[in-house]
Amino acid sequence: MSYRREPPKTMNNTATIEQPSAPPVSSMRLLASTSGTPQTFLFEGRVLVWFSCGAASACAAKLAVEKHKDKTLEIIYCDTLKYEHPDNVRFLKDVEQWIQWPVKIMRSKEYDDIFDVFDKTGWLVGPMGARCTTELKKNVRKEYQWPEDLHIFGLTADEPTRIAELQEENHEIFLEWNLRDAGMKKRDCLQMVANAGIKLPAMYRMGYKNNNCIGCVKGGMGYWNKIRRDFPEAFARMAAQERKMGVTIHRQNDMPIYLDELNPKAGRFKEEPDIECGPQCRMPLRANE
Ligand code: SF4
Repeated sequence: MSYRREPPKTMNNTATIEQPSAPPVSSMRLLASTSGTPQTFLFEGRVLVWFSCGAASACAAKLAVEKHKDKTLEIIYCDTLKYEHPDNVRFLKDVEQWIQWPVKIMRSKEYDDIFDVFDKTGWLVGPMGARCTTELKKNVRKEYQWPEDLHIFGLTADEPTRIAELQEENHEIFLEWNLRDAGMKKRDCLQMVANAGIKLPAMYRMGYKNNNCIGCVKGGMGYWNKIRRDFPEAFARMAAQERKMGVTIHRQNDMPIYLDELNPKAGRFKEEPDIECGPQCRMPLRANE
């Protein structure tokens, strides 16, 4: 990968939804979490579920509604819909019906979409993740959260490393791992959604491991060759973006390689690591790069 330009040090990013006023003072609440020492707060925090239009976070939302429906519970989706599969809007609405709870859509005030992030920051992806995730998801969450809030993300029982890393990097927030605690793995979430009669998002049905933007900057060579076959316009759009910026998503033999130079047989999609786009935003390690 080539990361020619460093991102600016300041990340000025604000959610469009107005910051809510301070919550009413209520009885003292003891918050215990897997990520930090139990603390006492004067304010009643909210339960925030970070829905990503994926099967796992849909199940996390379902379990959260069952457990926390009497609290101030919000299911939140940070908007990256513009370059996702249009079927995601259908999935989001199906999930709302299933969990009987509305999904609140929040978006960055500073950036319209992933290409706006690429253009304004001059940054595609780096060893620690992608700038688009940071600006459109992580920073939107950070702007919105209160210290008292309890956060639920859709990480599963078969993702202990990701859970540990997220906890390590987010000492300041309280976390509940409802999928892990229920022993639910990724495949269990896919099955749970199917059992609810909800058609899985189109990207899963097309063989993708995640329901990311069509043409995710964290994807490996095999992934991008699959995108080239399935969504040639999306491939061409990102290839043009790389040329415009003079940076590349991939490297080969320590040299940057543009998408329009990529050997159509390069990469083995099935063996490539999962792409994760969410609160953690780490870059998966790719073979041969
Ligand atoms: S799915 Fe990929 S391209 Fe889309 S916001 Fe996440 S990291 Fe960026």
